[in-house]
Amino acid sequence: MKLKTAFLQMLYPEGIKCNLCGKELFEETRFSLCPDCIPTFVGKPCLRCGRSISNDAEFCLECQNGEHFFDRAYAPVVFDGTAVKLIYKLKYGNEKYLAKYLARMMFDCFEKQSYIPDLITFVPMHEKRQKNRGYNQAEELAKELGEIMGLDVVNSLQRSVFTDNLARMNAQERRNVIQNAITLNKSAPIKGKQILLVDDVFTTGATSNACTEVLKRGGAKRVEVLTFATAKEIPLLI
Ligand SMILES: [Zn+2]
Ligand SMILES: [Zn+2]
Repeated sequence: MKLKTAFLQMLYPEGIKCNLCGKELFEETRFSLCPDCIPTFVGKPCLRCGRSISNDAEFCLECQNGEHFFDRAYAPVVFDGTAVKLIYKLKYGNEKYLAKYLARMMFDCFEKQSYIPDLITFVPMHEKRQKNRGYNQAEELAKELGEIMGLDVVNSLQRSVFTDNLARMNAQERRNVIQNAITLNKSAPIKGKQILLVDDVFTTGATSNACTEVLKRGGAKRVEVLTFATAKEIPLLI
């Protein structure tokens, strides 16, 4: 190989591609995404649940009525556009390695908060589903975050009831089913602890709420929720 070629390859290594569209990248980047594929936060986050609100309010309508068990929730991006594609790849595309890059975005968002957790835990997946998929994406994100933050990742929750077809249920039905499905691993060291609960997407908050309720009943002092993506507040139809 000519010296000049070798030098150019060092500067512009080949084979580094955007994780989403496959476009060649000129250098290794933190998220391994091209500028077009990096998801963003559209709107501004509700200061309680982190969902995107499009008006000037500090809290979304649900939080103004004080509905959540968890203390706070936040996410770096809104569940829209390329964020949906990334989650889809991580969940159904068997592309576990993506967790490493998504966790970096989550960490950037976490760093802006003033929370000091003692440990990290994650939203559990039912055994049957985990067997089919091979891994729990929430656990993979939690493990990557644990590594970045130097914190223990504790497997503290269990999904003991197989909840299928959640998408077809209304909010209340969903809440009831999820609430009964999650239980505490009795040996988990969560008493008196400040916990960071990790999941992939925050939508209605029903899952985060159910997990938090179980953790707090088990003695957790504070629970904040960090997800990769969050929903937009559902606008009121007047
Ligand atoms: Zn791209
Ligand atoms: Zn809110």
